[in-house]
Amino acid sequence: MLMSEYHDWAKRLVDWTVKYYEGLRERPVRSPAQPGDTLHQLPLAPPETGEDMAEIFKDFERIVPEGMTHWQHPRFFAYFPANTTPPSLLAEQLVSAIAAQCMLWQTSPAATEMETRMVEWMRQALGLPENLRGVIHDSASSATLAAVLTMRERALDWAGIKSGAAGQGQPRIYASAQTHSSIDKAVWIAGIGQDNLIKIETDGNWSMKPDALAAQIKSDRATGYLPAGIVACTGGTSIGACDRIDAIMDIAETEGLYVHVDAAWAGSAMICEEQRVHWRGVERADSIVFNPHKWLGAQFDCSIQFLRHPEEQVRTLGLRPDYLETLGQDEIVNYSEWTVPLGRRFRALKLWFLIRSYGLEGLRERIRNHIAWAKLAEQRIAALPGFTITSNSRFSLFSFRWEPEGRDGDEASMALLEAINDDGRIYLTQTKHRGDFVIRFQVGQFETRREDVETAIAVIEEISTRI
Ligand SMILES: *Cc1c(COP(=O)(O)O)cnc(C)c1O
Repeated sequence: MLMSEYHDWAKRLVDWTVKYYEGLRERPVRSPAQPGDTLHQLPLAPPETGEDMAEIFKDFERIVPEGMTHWQHPRFFAYFPANTTPPSLLAEQLVSAIAAQCMLWQTSPAATEMETRMVEWMRQALGLPENLRGVIHDSASSATLAAVLTMRERALDWAGIKSGAAGQGQPRIYASAQTHSSIDKAVWIAGIGQDNLIKIETDGNWSMKPDALAAQIKSDRATGYLPAGIVACTGGTSIGACDRIDAIMDIAETEGLYVHVDAAWAGSAMICEEQRVHWRGVERADSIVFNPHKWLGAQFDCSIQFLRHPEEQVRTLGLRPDYLETLGQDEIVNYSEWTVPLGRRFRALKLWFLIRSYGLEGLRERIRNHIAWAKLAEQRIAALPGFTITSNSRFSLFSFRWEPEGRDGDEASMALLEAINDDGRIYLTQTKHRGDFVIRFQVGQFETRREDVETAIAVIEEISTRI
């Protein structure tokens, strides 16, 4: 394709993008697609000769948008948000134009130094202490894996990366049952094994019980295990549970354990000072992860890990084969030594565009609105007949259940959720809480307005009266 053709198509795609956003409220939030719908429209074999962009684009319009769930829809109340914003979109267009490999300082000086500064801006924005450094990963799963590998190596005095983890002492990791499945996966990949990820009991507030944690560590040491680290959560995925970081840090400091705080979703809320009580003590943690690609508005992928001792992570993950040496430059940072993949995208640019465009005040206003509207929705749903709130709002997430007279609550709530999502005006998802099927409601899409939340409440009420 000629660059002149690219120019024309790029303009058409911008027009398409603007129309797509303007029309989002008219689309069903969750894709109505059935399994195989897209597959059946794609030829079985690749073309031998090139095709016109006009043909390709026509097929895109015909096949793709219908087959997508619209995460930027202002009535998306499912999962957690994965927000983009116009400034983030613009930055990503520039990133894909330059298309650089940002693995080393030398391969991308501006990207590397902007990453350093943006992590520093976010550190200040979240009210974290000056001694933290950080790096941008693709996802919280990767950041958590890096932290778990560092926990393992620290406990094994870095014998694992040399001789293999087998045959060393058996490290153990501690977390509450409210932590995300990415912790389980990290423990599998790290060769620690599910049996050595000990899920500590939670209290009535769904926070890990510090006494139970301390007792487990003590008994594991007595049995010959190597307690290595703790993963605490701020804003768990199911119902937004928060561990008491300060109490956990007291134990970790006494026991010499590494602490990783998973605030993938709720970390964004910490730009609002009044939310920081929910992670009091976080400044003492070794590692903290939060995803600006969720609630904040820097589109996927963008996950920041703050580190108190980056040198421990670099000792675990940093490799410098001859072909990656930067001759004559010892003072520079090569962020690929901080992360699992070597190749890296230029992820800091969208943060720069986003933060400068809205200012922290503009971003705070949205988060505060979301939190207030979630509270409003919780109160209104609590007042509807047959509905009960199963977990109160934490940040902007609560859960509820529908149990009308004479019907089984699991069956009724499931039927309600299916009917709501088939209707298409709003999108909600479920979780299991205390063994029950419950419906999650989170407010967080960047362009959600109060009317959208009002519509959601009305849709839930309307559908519950007719099924
Ligand atoms: C979303 C989420 C994750 C996983 O994030 P990815 O960036 O998709 O890996 C982990 N922990 C929590 C609490 C989350 O909300």
